Parts: sequence; structure tokens; C-alpha cells
Amino acid sequence: MADSMTDHGTWDTAMRRAIELAAGSHAPFGAVIVRIDRPESVVFEGGNSSGSDPTGHAEVNAIRAMASAGVTGPARDYGLVTTAEPCPMCAAACWWAELGLIVYGTSIAELSRNGWRQIAITARTVVSQGSGTQPPEVIGPWRQEWTDPLYRGSGKSGQTLVNPVREL
Ligand SMILES: [Zn+2]
Repeated sequence: MADSMTDHGTWDTAMRRAIELAAGSHAPFGAVIVRIDRPESVVFEGGNSSGSDPTGHAEVNAIRAMASAGVTGPARDYGLVTTAEPCPMCAAACWWAELGLIVYGTSIAELSRNGWRQIAITARTVVSQGSGTQPPEVIGPWRQEWTDPLYRGSGKSGQTLVNPVREL
């Protein structure tokens, strides 16, 4: 595990909140943004709203909440915690936001094994292809024993959209 998460326990709150967001979203994906030096306090969050916007992934919604609050420049002090590995669109959004850290639960490979549509390019691959800025550190799978159950069985459809974007 990388240096950014020397005390894993303080990051549990963020992952738990991301899981709550996933459970209340159109598709069961949730993401939160915390300050890396205060990971126990969720600052911004997003659920999946892809039912009304195909780009409404949890990570994008959390980054939009951050931008709406005025954090529009390099966000290196912030880390994104998400229930599943960011897809290429979301990993690129994290890169463009210049986040310092991405922490994810379930991997893209595991999502694919469970029948979820996925583009098989890892978040690490996406952020490593950028130039001109330092890419976010990527940590995961992490706490996948908590997040993998979101993506098994019948979770793929039929959930009600609740609070797709909310800023704390
Ligand atoms: Zn995505």
C-alpha cells in the first residue's frame, strides 16, 4: 500500500459513504472526495446518474460537485474514493482535475467478470498516459470485500435514482 494511505482506518469512512451513495444511485456506483490529510471527512460526493446522463458516473459527479464549490484548479490535496475502479472517462476526469490520489474498491476486471459493460483499460493506464502534470497516485483494489457485493447478482438495473450529486 502506498504512502498516501499509511493509516487505512481513517479512509474507511470515505469508502463506507461511497457505498451508501452507490446503494442509492441509478446504478450502484458511488464516489467521494476527501482532503488527503483529513480523509475521515467527506468533502464532496457523487452517485451514479447515468439514467438521465450517460456521462453521469459517480466520479464525474463528485468532481463536478467539487468544481461547483470553486475547486477548479489543481486538486492535488484531494483524493477520490470510489466503489469501483474509474472507467477511462472518469480516470481522465481525475487526471484533468489534477487530483492527488484515486482509491477504488472493485476492479474493472471484476466488474467485467460479473457482466458489467466495461472498457478494459485500467485507471492506472489512463492516468499514466498524460503529460505535463503529475498523475494521481492510484490505489486499489482496496476494501473490495465491501464493494464486490454491490456488483454481483441483480444490482445492474431497476434502482431508484436518489441524490446523484450532493455537496456536503
Ligand atoms: Zn466512469
